[in-house]
Amino acid sequence: KLYNQVQEAKGNIRVFCRCRPFRKEELSAGSATVVDLDGAKDGDLGILTGGSTRKNFKFDRVYTPKDDQVDVFADASPMVISVLDGYNVCIFAYGQTGTGKTFTMEGTQQNRGVNYRTLEELFKVAEERSDTFTYSLSVSVLEVYNEQIRDLLATSPTSKKLEIKQSSEGFHHVPGIVEAKVENIKEVWKVLQAGSNARAVGSNNVNEHSSRSHCMLCIMVKAKNLMNGDCTKSKLWLVDLAGSERLAKTDVQGERLKEAQNINRSLSALGDVISALATKSSHVPYRNSKLTHLLQDSLGGDSKTLMFVQISPSEHDLGETLSSLNFASRVR
Ligand code: ADP
Ligand code: MG
Repeated sequence: KLYNQVQEAKGNIRVFCRCRPFRKEELSAGSATVVDLDGAKDGDLGILTGGSTRKNFKFDRVYTPKDDQVDVFADASPMVISVLDGYNVCIFAYGQTGTGKTFTMEGTQQNRGVNYRTLEELFKVAEERSDTFTYSLSVSVLEVYNEQIRDLLATSPTSKKLEIKQSSEGFHHVPGIVEAKVENIKEVWKVLQAGSNARAVGSNNVNEHSSRSHCMLCIMVKAKNLMNGDCTKSKLWLVDLAGSERLAKTDVQGERLKEAQNINRSLSALGDVISALATKSSHVPYRNSKLTHLLQDSLGGDSKTLMFVQISPSEHDLGETLSSLNFASRVR
């Protein structure tokens, strides 16, 4: 309740910044750090930009490499729960490849991320409310690659192109995609694994492929209020975005050039949408990319948006770190 009041006072877009730890190779190579995390508790982040200059940033939260998945989810959890109250929600991870987007969203078997914890929390709260509400949850897992939507839960490949349609109630949806009903958290892990495995199919390098596509998990919630019979439908998007890094011009030709252009275009479209919302602009350009078009119901209006901007501590990544932080600052 308190959270919602804070939320309303601050608007519906929040930005959490998470800095990954140094990798072993970086440590053994003696890489210097460019991040000043002394003010992290107050949401302050300093970036040492060379010599004695620094740039200061402020976010709703700043996580140091010491903060774990539990710490991060604790702050995201109130927003997640609001999908059970009928709000549309969108959580996404933005940043250069290798900064921990997948670690934050998907996590690992031992260190599960926001996706799994979200569903776990939704089942828990739904159970707590079972005297007054019945909830039904289903999930879809999509990938957007080169402006094409792929259904990662489809059991047989379809030749039909997946398109975004708007229902008579105004909801955006993709006709024909699998919406897997999930009854408990055990089923969830299987579904998430199936989605994750399907990502690998047809690509010769899974990590490379996943860094160039957006992976999107949609949780659809139907709620029935047992007191008055009211029904609501809402959805929560959890998005692991393609890597935001710019490729060296000399490296980019042919298929890679097309990929890079599509990624650039969709990430800029996302930035444009969020900054249009943040500045309360009358026109919000959702239609400029498949990504923003898919997320339309969960960006803007009374929906809640959380962006994780993921960064590296290393001097070698300074340029990309500044570019990610500037992107994130646009939305606050
Ligand atoms: P991205 O998805 O942005 O390309 P990954 O999530 O694959 O990045 O992270 C790159 C590597 O760094 C992975 O091995 C991941 O487990 C590790 N990593 C990232 N963030 C953290 C963190 N906060 N704590 C521990 N390991 C992390
Ligand atoms: Mg990744």
